[in-house]
Amino acid sequence: PYDGPRLAEIARKRAEFLSPSLFHFYDRPLNIVDGKLQYLFDEDGRRYLDAFGGIATVCCGHCHPDVIEAIVNQAKKIQHSTVLYLNHAIADFAEALASKMPGDLKVVFFTNSGTEANELALMIARIYTGSHDIISLRNGYHGNAAATMGATAQCNWKFNIVQTGVHHALNPDPYRGAFGSDGEKYAKDIQETIDYGTTGRVAGFISEAIQGVGGIVELAPGYLPAAYKMVREAGGLCIADEVQAGVARTGSHFWGFEGQGVIPDIVTMAKGIGNGMPIGAVVTTPEIAQVLTCRSYFNTFGGNPVSTAAGHAVLQVLEKEKLQENALVVGSYLKEQLNILKEKHDIIGDVRGRGLLLGVELVTDHQKKTPAKAEIAQVMNHMKDMGVLVGKGGFFGNVFRVTPPLCFTKEDSDFLIEVMDIALSKL
Ligand code: PMP
Repeated sequence: PYDGPRLAEIARKRAEFLSPSLFHFYDRPLNIVDGKLQYLFDEDGRRYLDAFGGIATVCCGHCHPDVIEAIVNQAKKIQHSTVLYLNHAIADFAEALASKMPGDLKVVFFTNSGTEANELALMIARIYTGSHDIISLRNGYHGNAAATMGATAQCNWKFNIVQTGVHHALNPDPYRGAFGSDGEKYAKDIQETIDYGTTGRVAGFISEAIQGVGGIVELAPGYLPAAYKMVREAGGLCIADEVQAGVARTGSHFWGFEGQGVIPDIVTMAKGIGNGMPIGAVVTTPEIAQVLTCRSYFNTFGGNPVSTAAGHAVLQVLEKEKLQENALVVGSYLKEQLNILKEKHDIIGDVRGRGLLLGVELVTDHQKKTPAKAEIAQVMNHMKDMGVLVGKGGFFGNVFRVTPPLCFTKEDSDFLIEVMDIALSKL
């Protein structure tokens, strides 16, 4: 499969010197050397429409000129100091980020990844409440360090860590769940988890509003308000993991949780907020933030000037280019078109998601919802050969993840649909 000379060399080095656990999606992997907004280019200069966006990470577009300029200008001035000195980049970005949050959520802790952000959020919840038990949703993904891997609820992503005090509640999955779209029915399991699995007091509850790794599962309507109420009555804090659903991606709102009309106690983010730069953040209230003064809390690279300059530029580009509105308009159009494809191709079991966070689940049997694993791989490879890159996920690995940069256009959507249509027709 490695027929280009550079491709073969990279593959050899990767096999010899990199983690044996790395994987790629394609039979013939790509060597991506350039990115420009919603396009990627391989070593032969071949252009691909990127409908995966580095797993919902590239929000303004690859190498967006404003973000690059902010990074370069900042790197030329001071690349790293430490939060022990004052610097405007971190302060300006924190202020800008706080202005995007509802309620009293205005104190920002910067990290370098989503995992780190969630680890910190879980720890804050435990310290603040004095309780240990955390509830997360089955099929959720929250990271790959000890606490976050515990909160992650898919065996595919769990190593043999000691997982203490984590309980996985019923997933309010409208497609596969027992109660369809009735969010309040699923939420009863939160109460039962508290009643039968804990002391009656919990540290908190963490969930995505739309599960990304889990296959773009939008929580059933009404779920979060009911779940938050039960968790708060048990003394817990509600944590919204916005690593994939946040930062304008859902179009209708800036944050995914806003789609359910709730205000969390802690919000975590990463991916899109840096448009590719490694940055994560935890945002909470001044009162909750106070708990970290009981010890020293320090993160060497968290909030470094270059990453925070990039993050600030991301917020400005989103505003300037009205990318949230674009995510809404183009995402709604694309979802409509995907639903038309669903009518045509029996293998499409479900089309779901919001804005430019969309999922297309392939099943070989609509009644049994049998995952079409082999078929999805074939379609993905074929789409790549025709110049369109989509992602893949879900517990069974049978869901297309369409999470492009938010500058994606209607024309791009038409091209994606045409290519997906041809690839599905070849099955
Ligand atoms: N939360 C969610 C919802 C995610 O999708 C991810 C990454 N896939 C993470 C947390 C962890 O982020 P990171 O890979 O930056 O540690």
